[in-house]
Amino acid sequence: MKYDVIALGAGSGGISVVERAVSYGAKCLVIEKGMVGGTCVNVGCVPKKIMWNASHVADTIRNASGYGFDVELKNFSWTTLKEKRDGYIGGITNWYGGYIESLGIDYVEGAAKFIDDHTIEVNGERYTANHIVISTGGRPKIPTDVKGAEFGITSDEFFALETQPKSVAVIGAGYIAVEIAQLMQGLGTESHLFCRKENVLRTFDHFVTDELKLELEKNLSFHTNSTIEAIEKTENGLVVISNHGRTEVDQVIWAIGRDLNTDNIGLENTSIKVEADGVIPVDQYQETNVKGVFALGDIIGEFPLTPVAIAAARRLADRLYGGKEGRYLPYENIASIVFSHPPIGTVGLTEVEAEAKYEKVKCYTTSFTSMYSSFTPHPVKTAMKLVVAGDDEKVVGVHMIGPQVDEMLQGFAVAVRMGATKQDFDDTVALHPTSAEELVTMR
Ligand code: NDP
Repeated sequence: MKYDVIALGAGSGGISVVERAVSYGAKCLVIEKGMVGGTCVNVGCVPKKIMWNASHVADTIRNASGYGFDVELKNFSWTTLKEKRDGYIGGITNWYGGYIESLGIDYVEGAAKFIDDHTIEVNGERYTANHIVISTGGRPKIPTDVKGAEFGITSDEFFALETQPKSVAVIGAGYIAVEIAQLMQGLGTESHLFCRKENVLRTFDHFVTDELKLELEKNLSFHTNSTIEAIEKTENGLVVISNHGRTEVDQVIWAIGRDLNTDNIGLENTSIKVEADGVIPVDQYQETNVKGVFALGDIIGEFPLTPVAIAAARRLADRLYGGKEGRYLPYENIASIVFSHPPIGTVGLTEVEAEAKYEKVKCYTTSFTSMYSSFTPHPVKTAMKLVVAGDDEKVVGVHMIGPQVDEMLQGFAVAVRMGATKQDFDDTVALHPTSAEELVTMR
């Protein structure tokens, strides 16, 4: 059967490309072997944010006495939250199913494989298309060189846990490790975070991660420079054996990055180029080395974030079917939030990256305890940094950590994308009293 567009994978990228293409009249098919919605909806951003919200509620209760409230955090029902969370996600995936059908997009459940450059086989049927979009995402990694590694779970199984572990060891140093370790501590689990270097999130601007490190040291058991030697199963649970000794926990969670789902889709039957780490290289229009075959999302090895996959997918469909010639996603000035406690928000270049790119770089920083936080028994710092470049002091990076920066960043990302200068920030009248106003009053 022949289509205009076939998308491999019904995650954020695959769904977005067919949704936009069908709106221009294209005949579309999307193929998915797992759950519609992909990682983000089922075992990623959405359930994670619900857990982060719960942990935030717990923080608020712990802090309420600072405002004169006589409340105590007595109990937390993991079961209640999990049931509600599953119901919420079930609602989204059910909706997706109906939505895809209502748009007239064909959906096939099964594992798609390339037979040749332009033919896909799934469940014994063969399909071709003018445009094939590979958007198969990734899966969490488990190390192969650590004895007993299989006793640990990954973020996928974390979201399936029916009971709250009393203690966890999270191993890794990226978004997922930080987010899970901290939200679990917030919900009352004794949380250990093991990273193999001095700190986590090493590609971030150190101004914010140094502050995060202080919070991690304050709130959970942070094991830096740790090499994991083995995981042992005992009668009581698991033991993490590292170069620093033995740590007994109920659950071990690996969060050491993700493998790409490009090793199981028959690429060996095609001339599509794949790098050793599974990345499919593409040009600025998301096109692979094979004309008419595109790749987007995590598998292109740049900014593996849901909104990036969505943006790239929509622009691709706009260009192919919507008459918007030349439309593509520039992979720069992409904002992201780490849902740590407190959250981190960042857009643009770090100081180090800016120095490598521009001759004249200057940084403005501020660090303070917000009005809200200063009333609480557990105050946390807010730290903000603007990286500016050139004589006109163009803002090329914004980096923040602190309560509510997650909801502050989006508007500033617009300003950075539009090329705002420090003077533009200064000329913007502040909102008072907020923490965000500090970004337009820095000296
Ligand atoms: P990341 O790639 O972000 O981080 C994994 C890190 O773990 C590595 O950078 C490395 O850090 C460390 N690591 C790698 N191998 C080992 C090992 N064998 N032992 C110990 N540590 C190791 O992976 P994640 O799984 O956290 O997340 C995947 C992607 O998903 C992210 O990059 C992000 O783009 C996306 N994501 C986004 C979120 C958001 O937007 N809020 C939330 C969650 C995920 P080092 O070299 O410093 O040791």
